[in-house]
Amino acid sequence: MAIHIESEAERCLNCKIPLCRQFCPISTPIPRIIQLFREKKVMQAGKELFENNPMSVICATVCNHEAQCAGHCVLGKKSTPVQFYDIEKFISDSYLDRMRPEPVAKNGRYVAVVGSGPAGLTVAVLLAQRGCEVTVFERKHLIGGMLRYGIPDFRLPKTVLDRYQKLLNRLGIRVRTATTIGGALKLEDLLRDGYDAVFVGTGAWRPKTLGVRGECGANVQFGVSYLENAGNVDLGRTVAIIGMGNVAMDVARTAFRHGAERVMLFSRGKHANASSQEMSYAALDGAEFIYGKQIVAIRPEGPVFRDAILDETGAVVGYSEQEILIHADSVVIAISQRPKDKLLLSTDHLEGTAKGLLVVDENHMTTVKGVFSAGDVVTGPLTVVHAVRSAKETAEAMLRYMNVKDIVNPSGNPETAD
Ligand SMILES: Cc1cc2nc3c(=O)[nH]c(=O)nc-3n(C[C@H](O)[C@H](O)[C@H](O)COP(=O)(O)OP(=O)(O)OC[C@H]3O[C@@H](n4cnc5c(N)ncnc54)[C@H](O)[C@@H]3O)c2cc1C
Ligand code: SF4
Repeated sequence: MAIHIESEAERCLNCKIPLCRQFCPISTPIPRIIQLFREKKVMQAGKELFENNPMSVICATVCNHEAQCAGHCVLGKKSTPVQFYDIEKFISDSYLDRMRPEPVAKNGRYVAVVGSGPAGLTVAVLLAQRGCEVTVFERKHLIGGMLRYGIPDFRLPKTVLDRYQKLLNRLGIRVRTATTIGGALKLEDLLRDGYDAVFVGTGAWRPKTLGVRGECGANVQFGVSYLENAGNVDLGRTVAIIGMGNVAMDVARTAFRHGAERVMLFSRGKHANASSQEMSYAALDGAEFIYGKQIVAIRPEGPVFRDAILDETGAVVGYSEQEILIHADSVVIAISQRPKDKLLLSTDHLEGTAKGLLVVDENHMTTVKGVFSAGDVVTGPLTVVHAVRSAKETAEAMLRYMNVKDIVNPSGNPETAD
């Protein structure tokens, strides 16, 4: 491993205009980090990575590198791109437990963070480092959001989230788990109880439905629900997955690891939404991809399809009359998610879009004063690094809103927020 990442660092050309950085959604200072790594300054590199992206170790593991940093490395045009993410993972993993937060004077501002996914954790960490008293409210028993309950363990070992929990403790961030905001406690209660600002990072957890007969059958699961509970669900030997996005790939690979022998994934059109990397891994595990199938019903024996009729551009222009039953022990629906509507229904003046996404202004404030939001609940399902980027911007906007002056940033340099 050390040899691999050292040789990767040596291969970097230190481009004047580093496209890898330009195409990293959070602008990781890749050339600088590689330079520090070459000089064996691993802790300094870890500090700078963490300051730019508190979820660096997780992004290095689960980002779509082909579409982002590695996919734009100039060396990739003729041969293999520098695998910076392996270097980043090593550095950030090494730094995470050794990070010793510098003492920060409290600024007298209290912040509630609702949701402990990457968006909520980023806001919590950044605001605690600026002197705010932060309390995280999480409806589950453990922190991490989709990092813990969606992405399978074989792609992202959950021990990293336990290490984040320890980091929160070191930063003085309090976590109140098993507490749903919008249930017994409402957003208004948080404002009543003296929190100066609230961040909502509740993600997109409601599976989209197909709206076909048979969806309520005992042989049917939703993708994210299955992933959360895979150890307790027996899908049988033959599994039909409706959808070909990244969640569908995780379902397929998880199903194989829990005893499935045949896993088929169905797409309506000619294309899959999953990244080529995730599809390749699913294919290596043995998944079969079947295109041009429109599901019309689910029977106890399996899903029923009509063939999609495609024009020369690949667009679906109609469906065959004939219906085809594909025999399967179970059917998993993985055609995306949207936010749950608990908060919208329980909060006066909180506005959402037709898709249930929270409406925010240019400062990431919702339609309720003092309540900010970012991550999947605002954008719909995206990725970890996109959730972190928007959460970072939101943390800055919250500091401005709370009129936090003379902020001490994590590197110890005084600065003024407004
Ligand atoms: C199966 C799967 C695989 C994925 N794979 C990847 C990948 O490989 N790479 C990648 O970059 N992205 C991946 N993603 C996407 C990524 O996980 C999400 O984009 C990201 O987690 C969104 O972060 P978030 O903080 O907005 O929301 P979430 O991670 O969804 O966190 C929201 C948190 O809020 C809590 N919550 C919700 N409602 C309430 C409430 N009312 N009160 C209190 N707490 C509440 C939830 O329990 C959860 O902990 C994947 C997603 C899934 C589902
Ligand atoms: S955050 Fe993601 S895209 Fe950016 S450098 Fe790291 S692995 Fe690459």
